[in-house]
This record gives sequence, structure tokens and C-alpha cells, in this order.
Amino acid sequence: MRIISSVSEMQSYADSLRKEGMTIGFVPTMGALHEGHLSLLKKSIETSDKTILSIFVNPAQFSPSEDFGKYPKDFERDEKMAEELGVDIIFYPAKEAIYPNGYSTYTIVEGLSDRLEGKSRPSHFKGVTTVVNKLFNIVKPHIAFFGQKDAQQALIIKRMITDLNMDIDVVICPTIREDDGLALSSRNSFLSPEARKEAAFIHQALKEAESLHLNGDQNSEILIPKITDTLNSAPIARIDYVAIVDSETLLPIESTKQGALVAVAVFFDTTRLIDNILLTAVK
Ligand code: AMP
Repeated sequence: MRIISSVSEMQSYADSLRKEGMTIGFVPTMGALHEGHLSLLKKSIETSDKTILSIFVNPAQFSPSEDFGKYPKDFERDEKMAEELGVDIIFYPAKEAIYPNGYSTYTIVEGLSDRLEGKSRPSHFKGVTTVVNKLFNIVKPHIAFFGQKDAQQALIIKRMITDLNMDIDVVICPTIREDDGLALSSRNSFLSPEARKEAAFIHQALKEAESLHLNGDQNSEILIPKITDTLNSAPIARIDYVAIVDSETLLPIESTKQGALVAVAVFFDTTRLIDNILLTAVK
């Protein structure tokens, strides 16, 4: 496994792989790898000739009040996990390599970026799309892998790829969960033991909404309070939002009958967790 930190070295290496006719699979991450990240990497290894993992905690997607400074980092552990899995290259740039002095270009996907997460984290997706666009230009992938855990992010990146005529396929991989349903996240390590226990209510609330939907309760005005009640049974939980939206536009919908994305963001102490479930259309 090769570790590359230089942008120009990564670009030349990607060029040489492409010249040899290899397909490049790409998994962008912020590191602190867990089974969720590994599931994306496994999928890439299965379907591409070479798999490139990037590890970059992107300052541009954190607001000044967020957890950029304390975001978990353990490169040695990540390196070992990636090597054992069969990753070919880790692209591990310094902040200055991505945002050198004088940096002033941003990529914005309008509309989608302002909804759900965008309301709570106004410049978050501007940071995400900017860095992912840059990483695509550096890593030159044929296929990029993203998690359904960050459903809005995946949708926005697909929109960017379409709108900017990028020749990249996107594969969205299912959310990997703990036994009690909590979606794996690097931020789970911030949870106190009590908060960790209570965080299982997130998936429970989403699954309850799914059963209600499947059993005939498809009115968002009924479902949202039910989800809210279940989340509130966790004393530490502080709800940021509970939303039932169209899974393509992310705009609120009144009924889940034709399918929906149910998305939540909940604080446990200062740790903000997000999760979602896709409801399929019912007859
Ligand atoms: P992050 O390092 O949090 O930026 O995540 C990198 C990629 O891993 C993104 O495409 C995430 O959606 C994906 N990911 C994070 N957590 C999970 C999970 N529990 N299951 C599946 N994919 C995940």
C-alpha cells in the first residue's frame, strides 16, 4: 500500500493507472475509520482495479463552533486497517496542500445544500462539495463510493457530478450499524456511556416510523410527533430536526405513501448525530 501526500504525485499516479487501463475506485473519508468506511472500501476493492482511500479532515466543512479541532484522528490505526483490507493507496494530504495560501474557489450546489443539514450547518455542504470536487480532480476516479448514512451528502455529490459533467459513477452503500441499531460514526467515540446507550433510540424511532408507514400511517403530521416522542424518551437527547422529505428534492412531504426519506439530527450533550431511513412506496 502506498501513502501519497503530494497533490501532483497523486495526480501523476492516477494518470499512470488510467494509462494502464485500470479502473480507479475512490472512497473519500475524514479518517478514524470504522466498519462503515470499511464497507465502502470493500465494495471498491471488489469492483475496481485500484482503490484509493483519502483521509482529510476538511476544515472548510466545519463552522468555527463545530468540532474540527477535536475530530478524532489516528492515522497509524487507519493505515493498518486499510492495509489489511487491501487498499492500494491512501491519499493523505496536509491542509496546506488542499487549501494553499490565496485559495479562493468554492463549489456550491444550490437548493439541496440549504435543506435539512444545510439549515443547521449553513456552509457545511459548500465545504463538502468544494473538497470532493478537488479530490476528484486529484484522484481522478472512475467510481466513487459514499454512504447512505449521509444521504443528503450523497445526493448533493450526485447533483454536482451531473451538473458539472463529471465522468464519475457514484455507488451509494448501505448504513452499517451497531447491534443496537446505532449507525457507526467517528463521532460516536465522543458519547458518554449513558449517551451511547440512549443513542440507540435514534434507529428505534426511525424503525417505528417505518412500521407505521408500512401499516398504513403515512401522514407526516402523525409520523413526525411519534418519532419526536421516541427520541425524547432519551433524557439526554436534544432534537435538532425530524424531517420527512422527498428523497430526491429533500423538500417536506405530507405523506410517505409514494416513498420518503426520514431524516433526523439529534444532540447528545455536545455530540450531534444524524441518521435516516428510506421508506419505500406502498400501494
Ligand atoms: P466521513 O469520514 O464521516 O466523512 O465518512 C466518509 C464516508 O463514509 C461517507 O461517504 C459516509 O457516508 C460513509 N459512512 C460514514 N458512516 C457510515 C456508516 N455507518 N455506514 C456506511 N457508510 C458510512
